[in-house]
Parts: sequence; C-alpha cells; structure tokens
Amino acid sequence: MASGLTKDSNKDAQVDQAKLDKFAKENITAIGIDIGGTKIRSAVVQNRKLVCEPVQISTPQGADAIVDDLLKLIGDFQKKYGNAIQGVGIATAGVVDTSTGKVIGSTGNLPGWAGTDLKSIIESKTLLPVHVENDANAAGFGEASTEQIQGKKCVMAVTLGTGIGGGIIIDGELYRGASWAAGEVGHLKIANSNERLCTCGLFDCWEAFGAGRGIIMTAKEMLKGVTPQQSPLAMRPESVSTHAIFAAAGEDDIIAKKVVEKWHEHLAIGMSSLIHVLNPDCFILAGGLVRFVQLEMLKEMTMDRTIPGLKEKFEIHLASLGSDAGVIGVSQLVINKLAKSGNSK
Ligand SMILES: [Zn+2]
Repeated sequence: MASGLTKDSNKDAQVDQAKLDKFAKENITAIGIDIGGTKIRSAVVQNRKLVCEPVQISTPQGADAIVDDLLKLIGDFQKKYGNAIQGVGIATAGVVDTSTGKVIGSTGNLPGWAGTDLKSIIESKTLLPVHVENDANAAGFGEASTEQIQGKKCVMAVTLGTGIGGGIIIDGELYRGASWAAGEVGHLKIANSNERLCTCGLFDCWEAFGAGRGIIMTAKEMLKGVTPQQSPLAMRPESVSTHAIFAAAGEDDIIAKKVVEKWHEHLAIGMSSLIHVLNPDCFILAGGLVRFVQLEMLKEMTMDRTIPGLKEKFEIHLASLGSDAGVIGVSQLVINKLAKSGNSK
C-alpha cells in the first residue's frame, strides 16, 4: 500500500493530519463546575458550549461534604463520557490562588471552605488536570469568550446582584492581581461621606449604592416625606423590594422612576472610574439586576462622567450566558490550558 502513495497524496495526508489536530484542539472536552453558596451547577463543555443538560445540586454543609459531592459529579460524567473528559474546571466563591488551586479566602456562604487544597485533592482522586478559579472571574471569562466579545483588548465584566462582582480580562487572559483578589469592584468607593455602610465593613462602596441593597436604600431615602397618594411604595417603605421598585417604575410611578434613574447614576459613577483606570473596550453586565438596566441612559450618564479620549470608545454589552457563565468560563480556562500545553488528544 505504501508503494501506492504518491508525493501528492503524502502532502494530502499531512494536511488532513493538521486539520485533525486542529479539530481535536478546538474540541477539547472538560467538566465545568460552579460552586455557589446554595447550589452547585455542573456540565460537560466543548468549544464554549454545554454538550449535556446541566446538573444542579444543593451545596452541602462543610468542605468535606462539598469535595465528596464534586467527586461524585465528576465520576458520573466520567462514566457517561469516558476518556473524552480531559480536564475539570471548578469555579468557587472566595479568593483562589490559581497557581496552586487552593481556596485562600472564604465567604460567609461557604463556612470552613478557606484552606481547601481543591486542585490537589480532585487531581489525586480523578487523575485529571484541574483548574480552580474565583466564581466572578470564571463567569466574566465565560461571557468574554462569547463570539460577540472575542478579540478585545480589555473587557470589564460586572455582575449586578445582591452585591457587585467583577472580572477583568486583558488580552484574553484574566487579570488576578498580586494576591489573587483583583476585580473586587463592588468595593470601589463612590462617595466619601460615610453615608452607607457596606457588607464589607467599610463605607460608601459601589455595591452599597448600585447593588440590590443599595437600590432599596436609595428608595427609602427618596420615600421620606412622600405620601401613599404620591407613590404606593410609601405605604410600606420599610419593606420595599427591588422588584416592587422596578414594577412601580414600569407603571410610571414618579418616585420609583427617580430611584431607577439614581441607580443608573450610581452605576455610571463606578463605571466611569473603571474606564479611567482600565480604558476597556467594553463592559459586560451580568447578574439578576441586568434586565432592569436601560442601556442608553447608562451609556450617556457614564460618558458624562468620563474624560475625552476615553469616553468615545467603550461599549456596554449585556451578558448572554445566564446561569451557565461560570460553568462555561471555568471549563474554557482548563480547555485553553490544555490546548496551550498540547496536552490534548
Ligand atoms: Zn464594601
């Protein structure tokens, strides 16, 4: 058979092999796991897409129980997908030293989690390469890996929920800082009047204004002296919710609309500060509050607070991956690592 091979067919064979190598690299398969305070979400991911229905379980109490559940999830996927699984990415709340894969700072939501040598434990039990990442970073990286965002110089991902989280992606790589805690944008100071106490113990952090709790505080301030005839929200100002505020704003409640406008102003102050430091191509806004963002108003208010040379360039995108951002982001981090090291099929 070998004698039948011409020079040309040899060349074709080489091309095909190169194509196959490229295809294999583009299709490295990894498990992505996202550990939150209440839920653990996981799936098998290939080329930034889930290849199975995500599996979600409740987060158990205690580090040992979490590790046991992770091993079970990975074992179940391995049974189903066999050797196709080439790595595991684990996103978790808290500060993570990504060079060792150890959780070095915990959050109140995961007591006893700090100090867990997660990468070593999971690698020794599964014999698969593991990457561990902070959850906000992983979600930001996932969103920044989508096709509409790829190829940017600097992407600032901001999660708007009960707090404000952030992920900084420069030249396609996460920027993690000197002690693995970069991107804590929720604690950016946007006032200096000791006006609002943040959950971190400091005053006037961005999230004390721009996250859910901040919006409620703004509403309570604005409802002082307002009668229920002027705004139904004034009937029970002490128990007002973000849902009620946005619903009222949608029904043309003037006070609620002012609260929503003030929220956009608070967001714009933080975003303009980030623009002055990072000069990002774009923001990606994610999290539960993002559906209430009025993009044009936010962009205009941010531009008003930004110097020439910086205010012309930035874009604002809304996140597109929803609750799968962390799973996709952290598995993509493993896939990229494997592709770089050539450690793929
Ligand atoms: Zn704070």
